[in-house]
Amino acid sequence: MSSENPTTNESLPAEPIAEPIKEQPAAIQLKTSILEETEESMVDWLGERGFPKYRAKQVLSWIYQRRVDNFQDMSDLPKSLRNELEAEFAIFTSKTQEAQHSEDGTEKLLIELADGGRIECVLLRDGPRRSICVSSQVGCAMGCVFCASGLDGVDRNLTRGEIVEQMLRLQRLLDPEERLSHIVMMGMGEPLANLPRVLEALEIAKDGEIGLGISPRRITISTVGLPPAIDRLAESNSPYQLAISLHAPYDELRTRLVPVNNKIGIVPLMEAADRYFNATGRRLTFEYVLLKDLNDSPACAEQLVKLLRRKTAMLNVIPYNPVPGLPYETPAPESIHEFRKILMEGGINVMFRQRKGNDIQAACGQLRRLREKEPHLVSFQKQRSSPLE
Ligand code: SAH
Repeated sequence: MSSENPTTNESLPAEPIAEPIKEQPAAIQLKTSILEETEESMVDWLGERGFPKYRAKQVLSWIYQRRVDNFQDMSDLPKSLRNELEAEFAIFTSKTQEAQHSEDGTEKLLIELADGGRIECVLLRDGPRRSICVSSQVGCAMGCVFCASGLDGVDRNLTRGEIVEQMLRLQRLLDPEERLSHIVMMGMGEPLANLPRVLEALEIAKDGEIGLGISPRRITISTVGLPPAIDRLAESNSPYQLAISLHAPYDELRTRLVPVNNKIGIVPLMEAADRYFNATGRRLTFEYVLLKDLNDSPACAEQLVKLLRRKTAMLNVIPYNPVPGLPYETPAPESIHEFRKILMEGGINVMFRQRKGNDIQAACGQLRRLREKEPHLVSFQKQRSSPLE
């Protein structure tokens, strides 16, 4: 999870502030999640029970906009409807296993899904921005060598409701007058390997009538870079921001850091990125995690300049957030400075990100790993399907 932010250099305290989490009753998990329903399916459900279809919008906007967690609080619905909803549906089917609060306002949730799978999501506060970082899969199949999320492979894709539920849990951490402003699909997993469910969840995120009302310009899908799925995303007519995790300017190095690159290659990836730009007009973003002595040399910076010079693109450079047990390190400030100088002199539109939430294991998959004690996580059957599918 890239929980960086382009702001201050404030150092963060060592100890997170942890709060006890209330357990939810187990019975709630036997009900269907209402977050899996669409407005259309709710209209059908209401029709079967003799309720008018306009109630669908009412029910859903109570959940997405008015932040109620209980059907009985939907005060403008008839009591009979509230009771029927309550008998059939749950609003939340997961539980928050742990919540961490950073001194810089970053909050991270470790969420346990109904089947025991665990994912992470993060709220970042930055001036007026309230950004959230959301997971798309339990684990990840991409195998980027420096990332904690993929160390045990992928267990499964998240459902639409499970993706939306993360958004709602983070939204409910805000004060009543605050609204979520940005979403990044940069949590655990590869969003383009679960594209249909990600797009369904983002429909709710951008829906201004019943949903969260976040402009698609403020919604970023971050990908390791799967060309067929980038094309499908372009065809879906959803003008989200696309961020491509590049991490290296040439194939040999990229394949070392991001092994799926072996089946993709930087040239086909750049061609897919160009097609996305041509189809949507949205400026591309490339992500580049700086790893000491691996991809932080002046030669790498020069090659990056050549690769990106003629593109309408922004390069986000993120100092590595070290993962316990992995041998990778953050470069020294001098090499970061030198790297930056070469890119800027080369005319690249570059942003150097400051990490946030360092004190709370905010990088991708770190918290889940730290809390990895239950055996179910390792006994799940891994679906190491081809990322190119
Ligand atoms: N699979 C997607 C999205 C999830 S990761 C992707 O690859 O883009 C979001 C970003 O965080 C990616 O750029 C990823 O490479 C980066 N990242 C993962 N672990 C990190 C770490 N420990 N420090 C800094 N960035 C990290």
